[in-house]
This record gives sequence, structure tokens and C-alpha cells, in this order.
Amino acid sequence: MPIKNRFAELLPDITAWRRDLHENPEILFETHRTAGIVAEKLSAFGCEEVVTGIGRTGVVGVIKGKTDTAGKVIGLRADMDALPIHEETGLPYASKTDGAMHACGHDGHTAMLLGAAQYLAETRNFDGTVVVIFQPAEEGGGGGREMCEDGMMDRFGIQEVYGMHNWPGRPLGSFAIRPGPFFAATDQFDITIEGQGGHAAKPQETIDPVVVSAQVVMALQTIVSRNADPVEQAVVSVTSVESSSKAFNVIAQSVQLKGTIRTLTPEVRALAEDRLHRIVNATCEAYGATAKITYYKGYPPMVNHAAQTEFAAKVAIDVAGACDEAPLIMGGEDFAYMLEERPGAYILVGNGDTAAVHNAAYNFSDEAIPAGCSWWAEIVEQRMPAA
Ligand SMILES: [Zn+2]
Ligand SMILES: [Zn+2]
Repeated sequence: MPIKNRFAELLPDITAWRRDLHENPEILFETHRTAGIVAEKLSAFGCEEVVTGIGRTGVVGVIKGKTDTAGKVIGLRADMDALPIHEETGLPYASKTDGAMHACGHDGHTAMLLGAAQYLAETRNFDGTVVVIFQPAEEGGGGGREMCEDGMMDRFGIQEVYGMHNWPGRPLGSFAIRPGPFFAATDQFDITIEGQGGHAAKPQETIDPVVVSAQVVMALQTIVSRNADPVEQAVVSVTSVESSSKAFNVIAQSVQLKGTIRTLTPEVRALAEDRLHRIVNATCEAYGATAKITYYKGYPPMVNHAAQTEFAAKVAIDVAGACDEAPLIMGGEDFAYMLEERPGAYILVGNGDTAAVHNAAYNFSDEAIPAGCSWWAEIVEQRMPAA
């Protein structure tokens, strides 16, 4: 059961939708135009219900199968938001908005799920209900979390939920997935080390926060090398070191450190947060400095459920002939919140040999659309076979 023929027929339409979204990117929760187009199309396809304003600018559509003997309900989720990047693709349909760009392919995700919704509303060849979910603010805003907090899962009776992301560097239209932890928790920290500024030639009269911050930066590396179990994964990256002094001859009063911690389990996540506080506070104390630590909890780890992952991989094999084991990814994914509320799985679809996501030269590959749409449709038709 390879690519569905209907998606080859719909490809010009879906491609046109995708390019229109690409030309008109919207960031975080500002996906007003995009959500409007999604809602309009879902209504035109004949969805039984189209609800806007879930998770601020999220949209949900409901499609009922020919029959509903078992009361099954499956959620299919796409993200709609773009990134604050200035596009440098030179494409004829490049972003018309300065400083905004669909550099993660969410234009493609939205278009593919719309294509699948059109097909499912036309054919309704399943026994149950499909809930198509279009979320804003995947890129750091927690739009998926807000849709969950708005009670989406209960309101629509969603029992299982599936997600998909394009992946540059994977062969076009090929699939990869893994059970268990897949994407990382994305926590951030902001540390201000307060010393005692003074003349650079009289260090004995100062508490030099630059020296303390250097010790802190090095000591933080031991969270991964000495504290976390070596068979687990963790990343600690200090990404910004800013001294309050810009002069050659002034010892700073304070230094600000910023960075991120990526982990795949709640245990390692908690360990890393705890160790960060201890290391920073104890190091500062040793040198007579003080620290103010602000720790921001980001997305939780995204964990694929075993049974749904196995099923999603089988469907991918049916569509593309194979499904690879995906690597662990230390980036974050807002779909994590939906997988915390319901069993489900998230799969990667190959974008071919393109620039990486979040790069100004990136573009979603329209050639991946038939594979992506077919996977969505098959998830529904195989999980809820027509009675
Ligand atoms: Zn992204
Ligand atoms: Zn993305």
C-alpha cells in the first residue's frame, strides 16, 4: 500500500497552499492569517466541527467516519508557526515579512495535514472520528501546552495522538521513528554573579566575577561528565557570558551567564537542575561572590509510546517501504505535552538534501507531501478500519 493516488492528484493544490503559507509566515501565537485559512479550508472540506481559538490561535477540525461503532477518536497534529529569521532562499515565494520565515517547515506540516483532512473528509473510509489539530507557537511558545490546558483532549474525546516533522538530511519521503524518549527537555538558565568591581591593577581590593564565572562555566561541565549516568544523555551549554565591564582596566561588578540544559528523562532533568544550583552557589561562595539564578523549565522530554510507535512504523513501512530507527534528538518539541496527556507517536519524514531547519536557506520539500499525507491517511484507516 504505497503512496495514495489521491495525494498525487491533490499535490498541486497542497503545494500551492504550502507556498502561500511560506510567503506569509507568522510567529508564535500570531498565526491569525494561517489559522483563518486553516479554519476556512476545514469548513470547506466538510468537517463536522471547526473550532478556532483553542490555545489562543489554535484550530481543531472534527471529521467523522462512515461509521462509529467503537467510539474511537484519533488526533493528528501539525504546527503552524514560523521563526524570527530573515529568509535568504531567493525563492519566488520567499517570505514577504521582514524577519519572519518558515525555516522549520511548519508551512509544509500545515499543508500536509490540510491535504489529509481533505482526503479523509472526502472518503470517510474509517470507523470512528478524526480530530485534526493545528497548533501555534511550537517554536518556544508552548502552543501545544496551551491547547492541552484549554481542555482539548477531553473536549474532543481524543484517545491517541500522532505528530510528524520533516527532517533535512533524510532521503525525501522516507520515515524514521523511535519508541521512548525522542526529543529533549529544553530548560534554560540565567545566572548573575555579583562580585566587587574595581581597578584592574588592584585585584586584591575586588571580587572578580569574571574569574568566578570562568570557574562556574568549567564546573558546570561536570554535570554531564561526572554527575549524569554516562549511558544517559544530557547537554549543558553556556551560550552567553557577559561582563558588566567593557574596559581593559576595570574589574567588573557582575557577570551574566545564560545557557540551556537538554535532558531526556525526568530524573536526569532534576539532577541537572539541582547540580546547577549547588555548583553555582558553592563556587560563588568559595570566592566571596553571590549568585542570582533564574531557572526556566521549558518543554518536557518528548516520549513516544511503545505500541503507537510500533503501529506508526508499520504504517510508514506500508507507505514508503521502510522505516528507520531515528536517532535521539536533543532539540525540543512542544508535541511533548500532547504525548503526556495521551498515548501516541511522532515520526520524522525525510526532507531530502536541503539546508537544516532554522537555517535562512532552508525550504520545505514539496516532494515529501504525498508520503506525509499518505502516512496521515493510513494512520486513520488502519487504526480505525471501516466497519
Ligand atoms: Zn523548529
Ligand atoms: Zn519544527
